[in-house]
Amino acid sequence: MIDSHCHIGFDELKDNVADIVERASKAGIEKILTVGCGEEHLSDLYHVLDKFDNVYGAFGIHPTEAQEVISAQKLSQLIQSHPKIIAVGETGLDYYYNETPQEIQLKNFMTHIEVASELNLPLIVHTRDAEKDTIECLRAGNRNDKLKGVLHCFTGSQKLANAAQELGFYLSASGIITFKKNLNNEKYQTDLQDTFASYPTELLLVETDSPYLAPVPMRGKTNEPAYLPYTLAKLAELKVKTVDEMDAITTQNFYNLFFKGQNQ
Ligand SMILES: [Zn+2]
Repeated sequence: MIDSHCHIGFDELKDNVADIVERASKAGIEKILTVGCGEEHLSDLYHVLDKFDNVYGAFGIHPTEAQEVISAQKLSQLIQSHPKIIAVGETGLDYYYNETPQEIQLKNFMTHIEVASELNLPLIVHTRDAEKDTIECLRAGNRNDKLKGVLHCFTGSQKLANAAQELGFYLSASGIITFKKNLNNEKYQTDLQDTFASYPTELLLVETDSPYLAPVPMRGKTNEPAYLPYTLAKLAELKVKTVDEMDAITTQNFYNLFFKGQNQ
């Protein structure tokens, strides 16, 4: 099992990071991809990358944290500042909170796309209430069909999933797919689970997005990579596979996207 997206360098987790990585290993997590979301997170990111062999990193300017435009040159330099940074992101668009002007978000997103293409690294995309612009940016940035990446913590519509599939993008399932249906979310949860059920199996990943979004039955707790098996089990159920089959598939998918197929 591989946690394809979490933030173990964030304040909620970093003080106990050795225990968290050990609990993950005991739960069968062989690798962890942890994401740094802005320059102020870099030293914490380096710290966990240097400390643990099985932890890899991604770096980008999160759309809700960006206060100004970053240049491609600067971004490229930051991404290449550590040999275990293997992906660009998370980046993308978030019109839900709308704390950052959309114009800045759009510029930064296109810069991340450009740098990912240039460095031939996968792109990790966050999108919330911004599906139309997200699709347009990804299509515009995929000029030579070279762009590859993942819509992380996927919570979008079937339409967004169709666009992702056309681009050959992966969808990553978070704890949200385990959330119980109730009167308020019945249709949303059903649609989301249907989208995962019908998405190509070879383009699926699993993640915790910890410290956020702990899966059922851990809801309300601080999430951590050791809770990944609950999300994997739900995805297996949706895809009508055994947990072991789904584990092998999503692990191989991770290597295909982030390690060019090599199981290292
Ligand atoms: Zn995240």
